[in-house]
Amino acid sequence: QSSKRCAVIGGSGFLGRHLVEKLADKGYTVSVFDIRQSYELPGVTFYLGDLCDKQALLPALRDVSLVFHCASPAPGADDRALFERVNISGTRTVIQACHEAGVQKLVLTSSASVVFEGTDIKNGKEDLPYAKKPIDFYTLTKIQQEKLVLEACDKENGFLTVAIRPHGIFGPRDPQLVPILVDTARRGKMKFIIGNGSNLVDFTYVENVVHGHVLAAERLRPESPICGQAYHITNDEPVFF
Ligand code: NAD
Repeated sequence: QSSKRCAVIGGSGFLGRHLVEKLADKGYTVSVFDIRQSYELPGVTFYLGDLCDKQALLPALRDVSLVFHCASPAPGADDRALFERVNISGTRTVIQACHEAGVQKLVLTSSASVVFEGTDIKNGKEDLPYAKKPIDFYTLTKIQQEKLVLEACDKENGFLTVAIRPHGIFGPRDPQLVPILVDTARRGKMKFIIGNGSNLVDFTYVENVVHGHVLAAERLRPESPICGQAYHITNDEPVFF
């Protein structure tokens, strides 16, 4: 299988589309798997389906050596069953489909919230433990999802995995984060401060998040220390919450 053939699960999303565009620029042949198609790009093939459906996934992974998994229900939904179905069972299905299709590398988009307990973290590193009391169902299932992917790393059988943990992502076509913040501020609903006004929160520019994914994928080799590891990703400062 050509190392330049890859699939992006969730490739119609905000981050996914930026990743697909970068990969196409770098000469990869890209398949997108998503429940929806939000754009067209020459050389990119779309496969529509639910990632919980292995039979739907398999055609998108055929002849692909590298898979990026950046699909998730939107974090704001208060639907535990949906998060469990897509992020936990669905991730098991993605891993099984990768095995069946002979995929060699899987890069997961996780989230920095997997280590967030609701209290400040400054200069947080990857050795922080997973949150014992995750802040919501989304985060609870992102933790389980990350564990599944990292535990699936198996050098003997040639299946390598890594996870990238951004916090907030901003950039062109961001559908939620910054537009909602700006809209709320415009409507005069941000006239309160939590804490003394010195709290910091980490936002990463989408191109940097994409760069982290591509670097991780390209460095993921059997002898590499990144196999089976998770990495926080930020701009040029450590992670702040
Ligand atoms: P997004 O909602 O724009 O994209 C997610 C994509 O996943 C969508 O295109 C959606 O259709 C697809 N999808 C959802 N359920 C699916 C299913 N069952 N089968 C197939 N496709 C499905 O979200 P995003 O902001 O691009 O987030 C991408 C990833 O980054 C997610 O894993 C998210 O947890 C993670 N993340 C995002 C942020 C952020 O600030 N945006 C921060 C940290 C982590």
